[in-house]
Amino acid sequence: MSNVSKTYPGGVTALDDVSLSVEGGELLAVVGPSGSGKSTMLHLLGALDRPSAGTVQIAGHDVAALPDRALSTLRARTIGFVFQQFHLAAGVPAVDNVADGLLYTGVRRRERRARAQHALDRVGLAHRAHHRPHEMSGGERQRVAIARAVVADPALLLADEPTGNLDSASGSVVMNLLHDLHRAGTTTVVITHDRDIAAALPRRIALRDGRLVAA
Ligand code: ADP
Repeated sequence: MSNVSKTYPGGVTALDDVSLSVEGGELLAVVGPSGSGKSTMLHLLGALDRPSAGTVQIAGHDVAALPDRALSTLRARTIGFVFQQFHLAAGVPAVDNVADGLLYTGVRRRERRARAQHALDRVGLAHRAHHRPHEMSGGERQRVAIARAVVADPALLLADEPTGNLDSASGSVVMNLLHDLHRAGTTTVVITHDRDIAAALPRRIALRDGRLVAA
């Protein structure tokens, strides 16, 4: 991000002249009070939204210069997202929820399911493939969501308060998983309110009122 600002319709400036470089292979915590711009930053890093000013470059592509279609492809192939609320489809078996992470990548349905099964194995939930979200604990749901985020083998994993809805034991399992994925080569950015989680990550950046401050 170079000199990135984001002003929402209505006039709230959520990010104010932020410059940040995340190198391939990093594991980074984003901390800051509620409303400081963390989610906005993650949305911009994930090309879910465009900045009002400044430039966002992802894997060498200037987000502002890419047409919508190319942006969708970049997102589908390069970036995985994990959210606090899991965002799994209700009533849909875990394996199909995970396979949805390969939509828009050009992978055929049969292959999508095979890769989804493998991704569930990676998060230790191979035996839960046919369970639906309401049959699983919060921690298991988040692991399914992580499997969905990494099924396309993204270079970049963005997680917005991934442990925010979990008890501390499940939260530890989820964080261990993110550490494993990072060790396997995935660049990982984690928003967290949890000081212990942030302290355990190799790099921290802090936001306050939309600006980077010392962590
Ligand atoms: P955080 O993740 O640190 O809680 P956010 O990035 O969600 O912060 O929000 C930063 C500021 O931008 C807040 O004042 C919030 O109310 C505002 N904001 C976030 N999203 C929107 C939106 N879609 N429209 C208008 N204002 C928004």
